[in-house]
Order: sequence, then C-alpha cells, then structure tokens
Amino acid sequence: MSETETTENIGFADLGLRPELLDALTELGYEEPTPIQRESIPRLLEGRDLLGQAATGTGKTAAFALPILERVMDSDRTAPTALVLVPTRELAMQVSEAVHRYGRAAGARVLPIYGGQPIGRQLDALRRGVDVVIATPGRALDHLKRRTLPLQSIQMVVLDEADEMLDMGFAEDIESILQATPEDRQTVLFSATMPGRINGIAKRHLTDPVRIEIAKATADSATAPLVRQTAYIVSRAHKAAALGRILDVESPAAAIVFCRTRHEVDSLAETLNGRGYRAEGLHGGMSQEQRDRVMGRLRGQTAELLVATDVAARGLDVDHLTHVVNYDVPSAPEAYVHRIGRVGRAGREGIAITLAEPREQRLLKNIERVTGSPISIEKVPTVEDLRNRRMELTMATLRETLQSDDLDRFRTVVESLSEDSDLFQIALAAVKLAHEATVGSEDIEEIPEVASRPSRNAKDSTKRGPHAKKGSPSQKGSRRSEGSAGMTRLYFGAGRATGIRPKDLVGAIANETKLSGKDIGSIEIQDRFSLVEVPESAVDEVLWAMKRTTLKGKKTKVRRERFDSPSD
Ligand code: AMP
Repeated sequence: MSETETTENIGFADLGLRPELLDALTELGYEEPTPIQRESIPRLLEGRDLLGQAATGTGKTAAFALPILERVMDSDRTAPTALVLVPTRELAMQVSEAVHRYGRAAGARVLPIYGGQPIGRQLDALRRGVDVVIATPGRALDHLKRRTLPLQSIQMVVLDEADEMLDMGFAEDIESILQATPEDRQTVLFSATMPGRINGIAKRHLTDPVRIEIAKATADSATAPLVRQTAYIVSRAHKAAALGRILDVESPAAAIVFCRTRHEVDSLAETLNGRGYRAEGLHGGMSQEQRDRVMGRLRGQTAELLVATDVAARGLDVDHLTHVVNYDVPSAPEAYVHRIGRVGRAGREGIAITLAEPREQRLLKNIERVTGSPISIEKVPTVEDLRNRRMELTMATLRETLQSDDLDRFRTVVESLSEDSDLFQIALAAVKLAHEATVGSEDIEEIPEVASRPSRNAKDSTKRGPHAKKGSPSQKGSRRSEGSAGMTRLYFGAGRATGIRPKDLVGAIANETKLSGKDIGSIEIQDRFSLVEVPESAVDEVLWAMKRTTLKGKKTKVRRERFDSPSD
C-alpha cells in the first residue's frame, strides 16, 4: 500500500542485535520493532545516553532491555551489569518478567527487588549472582546501605517512568543511588511527561543524551471524520472475554482485529472461533499461499473477522470492513491512525474499537491529542446488556419472519398444538426455540469493571458490576428464615426458563404423593429454579417421588433448599 512508510520496513535484524536476542523476539511472535525501539536501540547500542518521552504500551521496556542484554553478554558477569529503577512493585515484576523473556536464551539472570518482599530471598539471589536488577528506589537504597547490592560493575542505569518516581517522592533516593554507580555508566531516562524536574535530573546525570519523543503530532494525521472511536478499559486477564462480549453486541459485518504478536493472533483467532465467530488469523509467519486463502475467505465473506498483526495487514485492502478493533493500544498514534483509516471509507460510517489496559490510558490520551478527535470510553457490556441485545435480535428476526409468505406450512402444527395449549403459550415456546437457535451458548461470566482512572499504584480493580450478584446466597438465606412453621422448603432445578408454573409443581407433587394441593405451602418460581414449601413430615416422600417422575417432561433435580448454593 502506498501509505507504507520507509522506516516501517526496518526490522529487528537491522538494529544491530545479536542472533540470540533476535531469536527470542521471533519466539515471542514480535514481527517488527515499535517506533521507540526503532529509534532507541541503535543509539543505545552505540553507548549514547537517552532521554525518552514514552508511556507504557509503546514498547519502551524492550527498547532498553535489549541493549541491556547486549551489555550483559559482553560482560564478565561477576556482578550486576545493569540497574533499572521503577516506581512500583507491580512494574518491577513486570519489567523483570520482560527482561527475563528477552534474555532467556542469553542466560541472563534477572532479579526484581521491591519492598514488601522478604529481603532474605533477595539476598540469596544476589549472592548467587545477578546480571540485571530491577528495583524500586526505596528498596534499592536499603540494600545499598546494607552493602548487599554491588554497583561497582554497573554499566547501564535506566530510570523507567521517572515522572512517577518523582511523584512518589523518590527524588532523593534516586540521586543517592545514581551517585553510588560508576560515573562512566550509560544512563537512560524514560518518562511519560517531561516536567522541569525531569529535565533537572537529565541535566545532572545524563551526558549529551539522544532525545526521543514518540507521538509527535503530524499534520496529516487527522482521522477520517466518519469513524466513531470508542475504547474500553479492561484488565489483561479479561481482554479476550471482553472482546467477545463487545463483538456480540456490535455484531460487525466484517472486522479486522489488530494484535501485537503472532501468538496473540493465533490464540485470539482460536478464542473467537470458539465463540462462534468465523475468524481467520493473518501474520508474517504465514506462507503466501496461506495468506491468499485467508484473504479469499474474507473477501468472499465466509469469514467475518480477520485477526492480524500490523505487518501482515500492511497493503491489505478490504472494502466492506465495518469495524477496526485494536486488541491493544497501538504503540504510536500514527499506527492508530493508519489502522482506523481502513474503515469509514467512501462515505460509510466505520467504527474503531480499542481495548486498553488500565496502564495504557495515557497512550489513549496521547492519541486523542495527536489526532484531535475524541475517543469515547465505554463500559464493557454486562451479561444483562448482552441478554437484552440478544432478545432484540430474536425479536427482529421474528418480525422479519412475520412478513414472510411461507408461514402457512406451519399452520397444522399450531392448530394441533392449540387443541391442548393456549395460543399464547405456543407462541412463547416458539420464541424460545427461535431464541435459543440464534444466541448460541450462554455467556454468564461478568467481566469486572476497571476504574477508568487508576491511581498510580493501582492494580486492576475487580469491583463487581451490579449484575454479578443475582441469586446470591445471602438473599436466599434470608428468605428461608421466613419459611412457615413445620414446613420445609424444597429446591426444584427448573423454573420460569423452562416454562414452570405453580400448577405444574402442585400437580407433580399431588399426583405422586399423598399430599394434596392445600398441603403445599408457598411457591416461588425463579428463572432457573423454584422453591416449594412442603410439610417437613412429607419431605422424604416428596424427594423419593420426584426422583421417579418428570416436570414438564424433564427429569428435574429436587432437594432440600441449602443456605449456600440454592441455585446450584
Ligand atoms: P511496554 O510499552 O514496554 O510496556 O510494552 C507493551 C507491550 O508491547 C508488551 O506486552 C510487550 O510485550 C509488547 N511489545 C513490545 N515490543 C513489541 C514489538 N516489537 N512487537 C510486538 N509486541 C511488542
């Protein structure tokens, strides 16, 4: 495609990294460097200091981790070669994992050091030997004071999320730590914002740094006016489920879902297929023949979702796309603009959906600022929303069917059913069948809502939505205490959803036991179960009888109501 910029053709292999590291990246499914990696890695390998303005999600971790690993492999590895300072324990763990992943083949030993973790374990690891230390400033300083963190061989120091570290009051700790490292070290500072205080640190501790700013506004980055842009904030663990839910509600005719890595493409395509979508994966690891097949299915509309990496989707033109989905926030606004430019063409409205993890909200803001068009943050549809939407679809389908002129052939069915059921009931049963045939499997897991403005330290909030508590044990427990004297409440595993009415329950019990209708107490019918009061003295008889009979033609589980899980 003509939009392809020349810099985009620069691959990891062009950055000067050694084969062990390149293999690790291939293994991880990375197809090409992000802009910040493209700009930082060669300069860092030259030994330059670096001052980078970049937020989480831009790929900045690999931008400093890969050059660190190059250094580690060149060193004698008797003491730590690199020190990365990060603001939070969560980030210390995350960065450690990343460095470990990139450096596994290189045999790099990585240690996160943060407060709250038993110091003994950190001391053991330090004694055994460590190449890269990722620490929060407070705990790093503790170790320095105890002389348990050797810094004499440090060649590279990274201050990651420097603005956050300053906000958290670590300025002095950082100064002390930097002073304890060799003067000829290489220093890298990444910060999402560049307030004066950051420039102060940079002036004092960086030598002639390369300056890199990702997301410079470009004149031609205005987005197509017809694209409705939305975003959802979801934690990593719930992303796939959230996407499924969003797609269910949006019901796109044809969509492209962008992922960062090949692995993500493969696993997401599989998940979406499992959810009933016809999804095809496309990534750079596929042969031309495989790609042609995928594109054929998309163009021929036998597939409705294309899950792809940027590299694979480059040059691809599908004109009936209605939605573009960013499974992750793109690493630079330009990539975002490029991606969403695939919909909203030729005067049709297009929809761009972005899934962002809580930490990536800053990237979203940046994209808004650069493109000058708002992205509206929406809530992931709840189970209730989905049910309503599915009900709407069923209704629409039925309305359409009512218009069709080939209904007559079903007349005899309705007529013969109406001999012993009323027409309204017959209609309900038919709607139920139609509904179940179109909605597929029931999705009943609530996706936790994430606070849209996390605090600095925030872990993903797992606040439950208002719909998650339906049928909670406490509700039922309190009802039980209202039971009548001498009566016991029985749980029947069938309810409104299977068309159960009070008279069905009374009928079944009265027909099969010596009880008559007036012996039976209160009856409560819920969607999926019913509760029926019977005399305590007759409980065993009723349970025994119910094992041998059916309710509305189906075997139904019957037992005493429990406090804990009445709805099973
Ligand atoms: P970071 O901004 O460093 O937190 O990285 C954000 C995410 O992007 C992480 O999940 C990385 O694994 C992923 N990532 C980093 N670089 C690349 C790349 N070149 N290609 C694909 N994914 C990447």
